[in-house]
Amino acid sequence: MATPSEVPSLPVPWPENAEIKVYTGGCHCKAIRYEFSHPDIYSMPVVNCNCTICENRGYLNVFTYAKDFRFTKGSADDMTTYAFGDCKIIHRFCPTCGTSIGPTFPAKAFVVVNTRTIDDIDIQKLQLKPVDGKSWPSGPGTKVGEAK
Ligand SMILES: [Zn+2]
Repeated sequence: MATPSEVPSLPVPWPENAEIKVYTGGCHCKAIRYEFSHPDIYSMPVVNCNCTICENRGYLNVFTYAKDFRFTKGSADDMTTYAFGDCKIIHRFCPTCGTSIGPTFPAKAFVVVNTRTIDDIDIQKLQLKPVDGKSWPSGPGTKVGEAK
C-alpha cells in the first residue's frame, strides 16, 4: 500500500474509494488503440480548456496515471508528436487519420486522455468543467485551475 506522499496527484483527483473502470479507445483509423483506468467518466469533471491547443484540437480531457495507460495496438512511437512554447507537453496524434488521443507531460506521472477518442463515449453526457487555460502566461499548467 503506497503512502499518500508516494502517490502522484492528478490534476483532477479521483474520489477516494472510487470504483475504477477500464476504458478503451483509439484513433479513427484504428491504427492506434489504447486502454486506461479511470473512475466512471460521467461522474467526474471533464476539463474543457480554452487554451489555444485545446480549442484547436477539440480536447475534452481526463487524467490517469501513466502506469494505468497502455497501448493495445500501435505505440507512442507510431504517433506523430507536436510541442510548442515552453509547455513541456507532448501532443500525440495518428499520422494517418490525425486523431489526437491526448497530450502527455513527460516529466509527470500522468497522461491526458481526450475523451472524444474513448469508445462509445457520449460527449453530451460529460460534466464539462471550464478551465481558463487561455489566461495562463505560458499555456496550460499541470494543475487544473492553477497557473505555473
Ligand atoms: Zn488513425
